[in-house]
Amino acid sequence: MPKPYLSRIEASQILTRPSLSSIAAVGIALAVTVVAGIFAEVQNRSVHLQSARVDVGEQLGLVRARLEGNINSNLQLVRGLVALIATQPDIDQDKFGRIASSLIGKHSQLRNVAGAPNLVVSLMYPMKGNEKAIGLDYRTNEQQRAAAMRAVNSGEMVLAGPVNLLQGGKGFIGRFPVFIQYADGSNSLWGLVAAVVDAERLYADSGLTDPDLPIDIAISGRDASVNDRTVFFGDDQVVAQNPVISEVVLPTGRWKIAAIPRGGWSDSPENTWYVRGLVAVCGLLILVPIFIASQLYDQRRRHIRELKRRQVQMERLSQRLKLALDTSKIGIWELNLDTGELTWDGRMRELYDIGEKRDTSKYDVWSECLHPDDRERAEQEYWEAINAGGMYHSDFRIILQDGSTRWIRAIGAVHTNIRRQRYILGVNWDVSSDIQLKTRLMTAKQSAEDRNRELEEARALMEYHSLHDSLTGLPNRRFLDQQVLDPQSGQKPTALLHIDLDRFKHINDTLGHAAGDSMLIHAASVLNENASPTDFVARIGGDEFVIAITEPADHSKLAALAGRIIEEMRQPVPFENHECRFGVSIGIAIADTSLRDYGRHLLVDADIALYRAKSNGRNRFEFFSDTLKSEIVRNKQVADEILCGLERQEFLPYFQPQFDARTLEVIGVEALARWDHPSEGILLPDAFLKTAGELNVVPLIDRIILERTLWQSARWKAAGIDIPKMSVNVSAGRLNDPNLMESLDGLSFEPGSLSFELLESIFLDEKNDIIAANFERLREMGIDIEIDDFGTGYASIVSLIHLRPKRLKIDRQLVIPIIRSDSQRRLVASIIEIGQSLGIQVVAEGVETMEHAAILRDLGCDALQGYAFAAPMPSDRLIDFVRKGQWRKAS
Ligand code: C2E
Ligand code: CA
Ligand code: CA
Repeated sequence: MPKPYLSRIEASQILTRPSLSSIAAVGIALAVTVVAGIFAEVQNRSVHLQSARVDVGEQLGLVRARLEGNINSNLQLVRGLVALIATQPDIDQDKFGRIASSLIGKHSQLRNVAGAPNLVVSLMYPMKGNEKAIGLDYRTNEQQRAAAMRAVNSGEMVLAGPVNLLQGGKGFIGRFPVFIQYADGSNSLWGLVAAVVDAERLYADSGLTDPDLPIDIAISGRDASVNDRTVFFGDDQVVAQNPVISEVVLPTGRWKIAAIPRGGWSDSPENTWYVRGLVAVCGLLILVPIFIASQLYDQRRRHIRELKRRQVQMERLSQRLKLALDTSKIGIWELNLDTGELTWDGRMRELYDIGEKRDTSKYDVWSECLHPDDRERAEQEYWEAINAGGMYHSDFRIILQDGSTRWIRAIGAVHTNIRRQRYILGVNWDVSSDIQLKTRLMTAKQSAEDRNRELEEARALMEYHSLHDSLTGLPNRRFLDQQVLDPQSGQKPTALLHIDLDRFKHINDTLGHAAGDSMLIHAASVLNENASPTDFVARIGGDEFVIAITEPADHSKLAALAGRIIEEMRQPVPFENHECRFGVSIGIAIADTSLRDYGRHLLVDADIALYRAKSNGRNRFEFFSDTLKSEIVRNKQVADEILCGLERQEFLPYFQPQFDARTLEVIGVEALARWDHPSEGILLPDAFLKTAGELNVVPLIDRIILERTLWQSARWKAAGIDIPKMSVNVSAGRLNDPNLMESLDGLSFEPGSLSFELLESIFLDEKNDIIAANFERLREMGIDIEIDDFGTGYASIVSLIHLRPKRLKIDRQLVIPIIRSDSQRRLVASIIEIGQSLGIQVVAEGVETMEHAAILRDLGCDALQGYAFAAPMPSDRLIDFVRKGQWRKAS
């Protein structure tokens, strides 16, 4: 992606990162400026020095001129005196003094003038202070002879000095030779005139010692000899410091005079910093524009580079775009919204199947191609996009030359170009296959959804079936567990009725499953009718139902409901030609909502209550209670002990003798089960038989009792006691056992000496083939069959005839009242009669008194059993009992 513009950071980088060329340009400019600055500095200095020298020269000139003037004017005065002497060679001191005084006057630079005719000093002005010089002979004076002789020999004034004066101080001595001119033109030496110029006064009058003099001066050239380098005035150092030099021209000879500014030449001119500042400003005036120009130059070059880069990028992009468009079969169109001019590329023509010659610059070309069904919508979408000025997106069909249809997808966007012209630019491509695919996918999706819905329905149906009983349409156990008893479910039951159909199995077995089914449907409808709409009725097992109560539990209402159900269920139900009767037992539990898992508890509690209702004799309801529960717990304990007792062989038979009603001989014994409990002693069947029944171990107990009875009978025989018959109680379970016969194999007994007592209720099952077959086989083995507890059940005469038992035992509940009640006695009498008429012996049990025994004997009863004669006893006691024959005495 090319960057549309330089970011701010890049812009700042441009300023801080100049190119090499601009660095060079600025560098050169800087160097030139520095060089020019240095040059200006040097120039400034030299100009400064030059002007200083000129100044010094000027000052020096003044001093020199004054010096020259002073010396020459002094010597000129002396020359006048010399001229006078030449004319008056015999001048005396007096005249000399007068003339000299008039000549020198107040001129104070001349200290004195001496005249030495014949080279010996004799004339002096002023005499005062100079007396010592009178008499000085130049020819003999060592110090002055040379200079005096030079003046004499040269005939010219000779200036000597500065010399130390005899009078003190320093002075210059001008020695003038004096010649006397003769008329013939010849001359002769008169002598010398010497004039002393006071050095200090000369210097001072020439301004050399002026403290305001701005220059330091050094003068050399002793004795007016220019070659003499001895500095006699000023500092030697001046000569060494490149002084300005000039010459003082004397009447004879000259001095060299050198000057430098006072304190030496100054290094830096006063305007140094001004000049430097000026140079700096000029430098800046040059550098800054060059710097800015170089920046601008750099920027320009960068822009040019960027432009080139973009150009390359643009070319590459447009190449790619071209390639993409060439391969993608996308047509491009453009509509100028201001002029209305439409432009199509070649591929648009191909897409719309429009020949080369046709004009495509008009909007109509497009609209005419549109499929009539799509035209209105497509045009509307087109103009809406243009009016909104945004994106355009539309799918539509077009009709091709051959009449076929093509799906086109159009995308465009409205733009404004640089010339402020509005236009819409867009692309078209063929999406027929996309649309076809989409249609197919939609159909597939639809059918998948249909399929899913069917599956969902099937699943729901299956779920419904899995949660409902198909026969009654009631919810099933799973549903109950899930919806009602699950602690998470919303529907909380307050109480539960567990309903069990009594005798349902019997109906199913005897009348067939159709009858059973119709009974179940009937029972379901009874429950549904009695339950309130908010209650929940479920079938949770073959003949088990549940009503979950959701209203607040009310003990009496629940009892009423259960009572109603029991009453209605007792009513006979017609099925085909039968009147079917069954009953129900109901267990009721009230929820203890404080328990975490109270739904499960509820079901268990109701089941316990139901169990109790059943064991308490069917067609009744029981409420669950804590005592019930503890009984159950106790039962459980007993059950465990029973199983233990069976293992430890704690079950044993007691024997109750039976007697011939007339002779009172012992004709047999009934073996009755006892449990020799390790802690509680001998227990009666009441204490364990029910629990053993629940444990399904009664048949086992029966078998143990039988075996032990047979074993005891062998003992009795060995003891010489004759007990001709032994009766054992046989539970229905044992009789129903198809393996009963095998279990009897191997038992040794004399045929006719063993009898099985069966409860009357067994005989109610008229069509039980196993029982009938077992009866037959028992009889074949020589085992008698007795009907126990006769008179309490519903055994029909028909079944008696059919099964042909050997004996009936009249139930003790019927026997006991005969001493008081006539009707009871008649009932017993008629039972005895029936037995007699069918050829079946009759035994009476529960013979508690001899009065009972007498009545029964009189009624024709065959045998008697009861406390009147003997209670059940262990085998040893029986032996004793029979031996002693005590009962005879009692009777
Ligand atoms: P059952 O077969 O009717 O046994 C007679 C019951 O009457 C015995 O009670 C006996 O003690 C009691 N009895 C005897 N004479 C009199 C009397 O003058 N007056 C009264 N009121 N009762 C008398 P037991 O031994 O408690 O047995 C009770 C029941 O237990 C038996 O009733 C029988 O149905 C069952 N049973 C006993 N032993 C067995 C057994 O080995 N197998 C099976 N399946 N059931 C047994
Ligand atoms: Ca019995
Ligand atoms: Ca009995």
